[in-house]
Amino acid sequence: MEYISIGDLSVVRTCLCGYEVVVRTSWTNSNLDRRFQGCLGNTGSYCGVFQWVDPPMCRRAKEIIPGLLSRRNDKERQLNEHREKNFKKEALEGKLITYRLMGIVASVVTFVLLVLYSALQPHA
Ligand SMILES: [Zn+2]
Repeated sequence: MEYISIGDLSVVRTCLCGYEVVVRTSWTNSNLDRRFQGCLGNTGSYCGVFQWVDPPMCRRAKEIIPGLLSRRNDKERQLNEHREKNFKKEALEGKLITYRLMGIVASVVTFVLLVLYSALQPHA
């Protein structure tokens, strides 16, 4: 295992397997947004090297933050649903405007053709 120092923190650079460890973020309720590093274990081996990068959250934060995060995620989901509905609505309105413009153009072309046709008719 190889260590490197970042400030006053000594972190693992390679695990016992010899691979460079990757810093990841925990999203469990007891360790929300807390970074850790360790053996990836994705090469068929897992040496068990694991180290927290960030200090633990205090008890009060562990009680409050999961609820806040859950509410934030609900609001974000609602916002995305609203945006999707608006996008579909705007796309439909865009199609309607296009169809109306096509109708107006078709009417004008028809009118011009009728005027030309009647102008070209021999007068009796
Ligand atoms: Zn390893």
